Amino acid sequence: MCVLRNCLFLIVTTISLFSFSQNDYEQIIKNEKKKIDSKLLFKKSILTESYNIVYHRLEFDLKLDNNYLYGKITTYFNPLKPAFNIIQFDAEDYLKIDSVIYKNEKMSFIHSNKQLTISLSKNIEIGTLDSLSVYYQGNPGLNNPYKSFVFDMHNANDLHPVAWTLSEPYGSKGWWICKESLSDKIDSTDILIKVKKGNTAVSNGLLVFEKSINDSQVLFHWKHRYPIATYLIAIAATNYIRYSDNVIYNVNDTLPIENFVYPESENEARIKTPQTIKMIKLYDSLFGVFPFKKEKYGHAQFGISGGMEHQTISFMGSFNFDLTAHELAHQWFGDATTCGSWSELWLNEGFATYLNMLCYENFVSGKEFTSKMENLNADITKVSDGSVYIGDTANTSRLFSGRLTYSKGAFLLHMLRWKIGDNAFFGGVKNYLQNPKCKYGFGTTQLLKNELENSSGKNLDEFFKDWYTGEGFPQFDISWGNKGNKIWIRINQTPSHHSVQFFNIPLPFLIKGISKDTILVFDPISKDNTFTETLDFLPEEIIFDPQKWILSKSFISKITDQTLPEVSIYPNPAYDFLNLYCYKSQILKIEVIDFSGKTVYKNDYESDKIIKNHNSIDISKFCEGIYIAKVQTSNGNVPIKFIKK
Ligand SMILES: [Zn+2]
Repeated sequence: MCVLRNCLFLIVTTISLFSFSQNDYEQIIKNEKKKIDSKLLFKKSILTESYNIVYHRLEFDLKLDNNYLYGKITTYFNPLKPAFNIIQFDAEDYLKIDSVIYKNEKMSFIHSNKQLTISLSKNIEIGTLDSLSVYYQGNPGLNNPYKSFVFDMHNANDLHPVAWTLSEPYGSKGWWICKESLSDKIDSTDILIKVKKGNTAVSNGLLVFEKSINDSQVLFHWKHRYPIATYLIAIAATNYIRYSDNVIYNVNDTLPIENFVYPESENEARIKTPQTIKMIKLYDSLFGVFPFKKEKYGHAQFGISGGMEHQTISFMGSFNFDLTAHELAHQWFGDATTCGSWSELWLNEGFATYLNMLCYENFVSGKEFTSKMENLNADITKVSDGSVYIGDTANTSRLFSGRLTYSKGAFLLHMLRWKIGDNAFFGGVKNYLQNPKCKYGFGTTQLLKNELENSSGKNLDEFFKDWYTGEGFPQFDISWGNKGNKIWIRINQTPSHHSVQFFNIPLPFLIKGISKDTILVFDPISKDNTFTETLDFLPEEIIFDPQKWILSKSFISKITDQTLPEVSIYPNPAYDFLNLYCYKSQILKIEVIDFSGKTVYKNDYESDKIIKNHNSIDISKFCEGIYIAKVQTSNGNVPIKFIKK
């Protein structure tokens, strides 16, 4: 889903403007209660987990003029538990259940607390395929807490009714009798929608037929033969104009992109939707062929200024470049491979956001790609906390946080690509999509991590600990200087949030000279590291992270000879090693004394005739505490205090 970001930001700003008072306490308690209430609403029922859904046939009589829906949902299921004689579905209380038919008989049922519980007339054995139908009716657009079904009008000059659905994450039960699950995909569906003549009803998969059933109504039958998650089932209907764009693979191999657009938007849509062709070809080449190729891809316009990636038919508020690239990306990341839990929604949204960025890299320019990544960086770093991982999945505004689930999720992928290289990154992601658990199933961060570790041969534990579950980002204070062709760069890192001690990531620098440039990459191992390098040209300027690979805030300064310290030590506090660097001359002697004045370390380089301007002392056996390093250089004595931890 692509959210309207400004709305979310506005909410955040408004909250932070409150001054703290007694009312705030009440508000906090109220909010907490709301959270707990909503958690209760989302609790999984043991009963809905006791069977596997095989097939759904959804039949609707959609009354666009009266804002009303008659539905019949036939479910084919097989029990996962013995002596199965009760089946439960999710269904909002405002849907009026007319009857439940099982083997041509009416069954008794209880419909309360958003669940429909049906007593079956006999026990069904594990694995036996059986089916039943539920008849119901109501106005699902009224009192719908998730606005998952909307009756609206479009075209100000010639108003026409329109209806659409948007179920992600918990709204399916608001308009049909379903099992709202992220562990059980429906193997296949048929969706039949009756609407008033003059309208077109759209849904997942292929159109089997469209036929007139009486003077006033027309029936559309859509069939889908790929596994599908409940929240990706959707319908929409209005007086759509229909046309196709085509991805031509070869003479006999074409994927249709079927577009359903409002008449008043047709001209603009026809100009914009053909861009989808090159995007499909790009994603095909990077992540494997379009996952629903035997059927179709399509766009159906709806009245929300964002989009929703319904399987094989994205619902679109507009046909802009970013929205088109984002919703299309979800067909791979979100639809064919769905996040296995809402806490890992970044597997849908982080990928969709990053694939959108890849369209800039491939269709616009490397410069534009860098500038887009800089925008994401600015968005993420304007607040110092927050992880990609979602702790509270009942909080839908956190779930769909543009800053964390989308932007930081995308940046996490970008940094993985930087860390392990293009081949291992794209190869590993492709393997993740092809993993038998993920392909037309559910993906997890762990499965993605395993595949990337396999493709790169690198252990990514620390990376995911810092960037996925950890909050915030590194802030770099970078200073540099040079003596002729010799350059030193000191990198001081302060994590923006206490959940991460140190962000471990290689850092690129562009070193610019008058006639030559070079890129140097350093891999700091602690919060304060200094690197030196001898160049074959005179450095004039350095630029940190010129292609914007690293999520960070940074400040860079050049230290001139006058402002250079005689000696610097790092890190401080130090753990196992203490590094000393003498910028202007040589180290002659080092003596370390503890708090009581006792000498705990001594080295005399002058007598050893070893000329040094840097040194590393093993302090791992020192007791914790404050020490003084007395450094004698060819320019004099420098005492420096440091802490051993
Ligand atoms: Zn999305």
